[in-house]
Amino acid sequence: MERSVIVTGGSRGIGRTICLGAAKVGYQVCVNYAHNAEAAGEVISLIQAAGGTAIAVQADMTKEADILRMFETVDRELAPLSALVNNAGIVDKASRVEDMSLERLERMFTTNITGPFLCAREAVKRLSTAHAGKGGVIVNISSVAAKLGSPNEYVDYAASKAAIDTMTMGLAKEVANEGIRVNAVRPGVIYTDIHASGGEPNRVDRVKSMVPMQRGGEAQEIADAVLWLLSDQSSYVTGSLIDVSGGR
Ligand code: NAP
Repeated sequence: MERSVIVTGGSRGIGRTICLGAAKVGYQVCVNYAHNAEAAGEVISLIQAAGGTAIAVQADMTKEADILRMFETVDRELAPLSALVNNAGIVDKASRVEDMSLERLERMFTTNITGPFLCAREAVKRLSTAHAGKGGVIVNISSVAAKLGSPNEYVDYAASKAAIDTMTMGLAKEVANEGIRVNAVRPGVIYTDIHASGGEPNRVDRVKSMVPMQRGGEAQEIADAVLWLLSDQSSYVTGSLIDVSGGR
C-alpha cells in the first residue's frame, strides 16, 4: 500500500538521512526545509534517482500557516500520510541562562516545541481512527540534553527537548487506542552542521571524551532507530524515549 511520511528539517543532517532511509523502505517522502532549497533539492534528486517519490516543501516550523500549507500539499501530492518525523530543531550560541534574551527564548521554544506540537496536531487529525484515519506513527527527535540539562551551553534547548519528551509520553497515551504510536529518539552528540550553527563546528570532538563510547555518533545511527520506530517491528512500542547516545 502506498504511504507517505513528512520529515521536518529533512534537507540536512539527521533529517536528510531519515528521508533517504524512509524512501528506501517505500515511503513517499515530504522533505521539509526552512531556508536551504538547494540542500532539499539534493535529497529529492537522490530519492528520485533511486526510483522513489519525494517532494520538497519549504515551510518554517515557527509559522502555523506554513505548517498547514505543508500538510495540505502532502494531502494533494503524495500517497496518504502514514507517518510524521518531528525532526527540525535548532540550538543557539553557548550561553548562561542569565544572558538569554526573550527573542532567543521565543525562537527556541517556538521552533523546538510549538512547531512539533502543531505538526503532531495535524498528523493526528489525519492518522487517528477517531478521525476516520488508518493509524500511523509519529517519531519526535528529542535529545539526551533533556536529561543532562546542558549547563553553560543551552539550558533553553535542553528544556525544549524535555518538553518534547513529555509531549511524546502524553500524546502516545492519548492516541494509543486510535492506531497511532508516538515515540522519541534522543540522540547524543552527532556529526552534523547543527554545532556550527551554535557557533562551535568542532563541538562533537570537544565533548566526545564525555561519551562512554568515546566517540560522536553518525546521522545514520539515529536514522536507523527512527526507521525501526516507523516500522511494524516496533508495533508494541509507544510512549518510549530511546537514547541513541553512546551511553551518555
Ligand atoms: P541540522 O544539521 O542543523 O539540520 C537542521 C534541519 O532543520 C535543516 O534541514 C533545516 O533546514 C531544518 N530547520 C531548521 N529550522 C527550521 C524551521 N524553523 N523550519 C523548518 N525546518 C527547519 O540539525 P541536526 O543536527 O540534523 O538535528 C536534527 C534534530 O536532531 C534536531 O531536532 C536536533 O535538536 C536533534 N539533535 C541533534 C543532535 C546533534 O548532535 N546533531 C543531538 C541531539 C539532538 P534549513 O537548512 O532549510 O534551515
